[in-house]
Amino acid sequence: MLYNSLQAIQSDLFASKITVRQVVEGYLQRIEEKKRLNVFLEVFADESLQTADALDKRIADNLQVGKLAGLVVGIKDLISFKGHGLTCSSKILDGFEAKFSATVVERLLKEDAIIIGRQNCDEFGMGSANKNSAYGRVLNNIDNSLVAGGSSGGSAVAVQADLCMVSLGSDTGGSVRQPAAFNGIIGFKPTYGRISRHGLAAFASSFDVIGILSKTLEDNEKVLEVISGKDNFDSSSVSNAFKSADKPTTSKKLVFFKQVMQSEGLSEDVRKQFQDKIQQLKEDGHKVEETDFPLLEYLLPTYYILTMAEASSNLSRYDGVRYGLRENDNSLEHLYKKTRSQGFGEEVKRRIMMGSFVLSAGYYDAYYTKAQRVRKVIKDKTTELLNTYDFIISPTAPGPAFKADKIKSSPIEEYLQDIFTVHASLAGLPAISIPLGKTKENLPIGFHLVANEFEEDALYSFSKYLVTL
Ligand code: GLN
Repeated sequence: MLYNSLQAIQSDLFASKITVRQVVEGYLQRIEEKKRLNVFLEVFADESLQTADALDKRIADNLQVGKLAGLVVGIKDLISFKGHGLTCSSKILDGFEAKFSATVVERLLKEDAIIIGRQNCDEFGMGSANKNSAYGRVLNNIDNSLVAGGSSGGSAVAVQADLCMVSLGSDTGGSVRQPAAFNGIIGFKPTYGRISRHGLAAFASSFDVIGILSKTLEDNEKVLEVISGKDNFDSSSVSNAFKSADKPTTSKKLVFFKQVMQSEGLSEDVRKQFQDKIQQLKEDGHKVEETDFPLLEYLLPTYYILTMAEASSNLSRYDGVRYGLRENDNSLEHLYKKTRSQGFGEEVKRRIMMGSFVLSAGYYDAYYTKAQRVRKVIKDKTTELLNTYDFIISPTAPGPAFKADKIKSSPIEEYLQDIFTVHASLAGLPAISIPLGKTKENLPIGFHLVANEFEEDALYSFSKYLVTL
């Protein structure tokens, strides 16, 4: 039996029409059938069934159960779950076991969600196609020759293919939203600080957020309610936990950028679908305006300079001494070099080197400091816009999922995938990708909305209306 929402599962659970064990068994069976997609790096089969049995017993005994009872969740292999493997899809962490659980994991478990396994992704979250994994690429379930999107590609395909109901991914520059778009599901990135990062392996700490992938907005929202809010283990987390509050959809003011529509890589299909949606919105009484946003061309360079700088610092901890892989050699320096040379993949190495370069004496001001300043300008201009408009809208990515062999030579081509999503990450704002429609080839595309800080409730409410428009 396949369920499309947590509410549907829970109503059958509480009416004794089904057991949690049966729900979990269903997922485990599909995971087995879809093994070739390479979504899960590890499945916690026995443990999930044990948790299910314990939960079934409590339900049978009429005892109180948590808000997420019956929800089967997958976690990206960047999120710690005590006693379970954690590799960040990297060889450098091969065999490493998490010593503690991420706050999000603790909160999910407390509300009786079942964590079914950890999901393949781009190494340390760096990539847009899920090809940069030491454990092989994730296949797109709609068409296996296409990429899954990235970096939370496994997490998105898992939801699309019904291998779990919700996934937790991480989003530094679009890693939840872009794969959601490529797989026709919902991908949500919270305001920076809304969800604790404790237990999320760091890529670029001032950008990283944990995000939620799901088929319905209601499930997405419910999970946010549970995992958001202050956490003493993350000093950047904020005190206000999210509380869903459906706001009536009155006439809204939306804005999109001229430069997005003129963007070179934007596919005709995506442009057309986006324009049609704008038309529909206008006909339904909303104000949709085009504006000039000359900063668009600075978004990617600023994002990549800053995230590479932060990554080079964050990833210095993987030295062969403290975690995972250790390539022994005759001196400590050689041990570092050998371990890091053999443990990291090509893209991660590229970023560490570029990041070290932009932070090096002599170039620091020219790149790092300048990018910090540009980030501030981007943030201020964006906030200014969001004081006038409710949402900034765009397609989520320039095109649909592409062929896995398309990006070969230049990493720039892959970086261009993030052109529309990095904006919200640079500004620390909440954003969501919802299914927009399909291309002529029947591939899903995403519609992207950005809201002002902590306006997740408005984002969800409007998205609920939009998916029915
Ligand atoms: N694709 C982007 C990158 O490679 C975004 C990654 C992410 O959000 N983790 O940096």
